[in-house]
Amino acid sequence: MGWLLAAVAQDANNQFYVVAYGVVRAETKDAWKWFLSNLQADIGDDANHGWNFISDQQKGLLPTLKEVMPKARHRNCVMHMWKNFVNRFKDLYIREVVWECARCTTVAKFKDCMDRLKAVNQGAWEYLSKFEPETWVKAYFSHGPKVDNLTNNMCEVFNAEIVNYRCKPILTMCEEIRCYLMRRMVNHKRVLKNHPGKLAPVQQKRMERLLAMGTKWTAEWVGDNERKSFKVSRKGSKVDVDLINYTCSCNRWQLTGMPCTHALAAIVKRRDKAEDYVHPWLCMESIKRTYSHCIKPVPSAEFCPRSEYSQLEPPIIKRPIGRPKFTTDRKILLSP
Ligand SMILES: [Zn+2]
Repeated sequence: MGWLLAAVAQDANNQFYVVAYGVVRAETKDAWKWFLSNLQADIGDDANHGWNFISDQQKGLLPTLKEVMPKARHRNCVMHMWKNFVNRFKDLYIREVVWECARCTTVAKFKDCMDRLKAVNQGAWEYLSKFEPETWVKAYFSHGPKVDNLTNNMCEVFNAEIVNYRCKPILTMCEEIRCYLMRRMVNHKRVLKNHPGKLAPVQQKRMERLLAMGTKWTAEWVGDNERKSFKVSRKGSKVDVDLINYTCSCNRWQLTGMPCTHALAAIVKRRDKAEDYVHPWLCMESIKRTYSHCIKPVPSAEFCPRSEYSQLEPPIIKRPIGRPKFTTDRKILLSP
């Protein structure tokens, strides 16, 4: 029995991309340290790249992440937080409050949401207040990754895909996962090779949806010399859109790299091309770079050169007390 650790990222088309995986005997701080140190050696230093992680706060992971990559940011999977919350607070009225708070993209909205919770359930408010907002509320997320995910859904999808390999012996499992990832990358390359647009297909659809919603907003040029500053309003609601710095008061553009409905209303008013305002990480160019390399084949044992070192021995099997349980995978999502 062992633990499969994996670092899973998200590509420009919102598909999972496995950066690294490894098997350890137990989920300990040492195991995480080994995994994260190797990961850092591959992907580069946290100080230079501004890495962001999201996880279920697995045992030993957070202190080790702080030790190995002190500058990396960390988010909690809100689904994991929500499950713990509803186990503790059974009041149906506040069941969705964790999601409502987490989805707030401005500090003012988040504070308002928390104040309303405090008025109806002081205990629940105290419980949520203990979590650093930087770890679960969009308003406090870094603008760096251009991904505002609240859950580590990418890991869950990967986990579901490899369910048939996980029960196999360790070398077979690792090899079958490797082949699966190789095939997956080839498939992405094939499908997306002839995609004609500038944006990745998922982002194109997302932009079209937002453009349709943007028609409900009225954009008004404020008179700056560049003609790139707009007041965008609808039924008493007003935001400030800056098409030079790619910002909107709602904070969604900064978080996701995709112009929000307000920004799109201003872009349409200028008769500009909306895709020119989308962050390059959501474009086909990024897809091409992500899949520009491939996973090399590994020949079977009879074609491998003999090693001067001793033969591999199977790991020592420790049988835990009690009935055997299924191995649970532990993963972290790494954002670009
Ligand atoms: Zn906006």
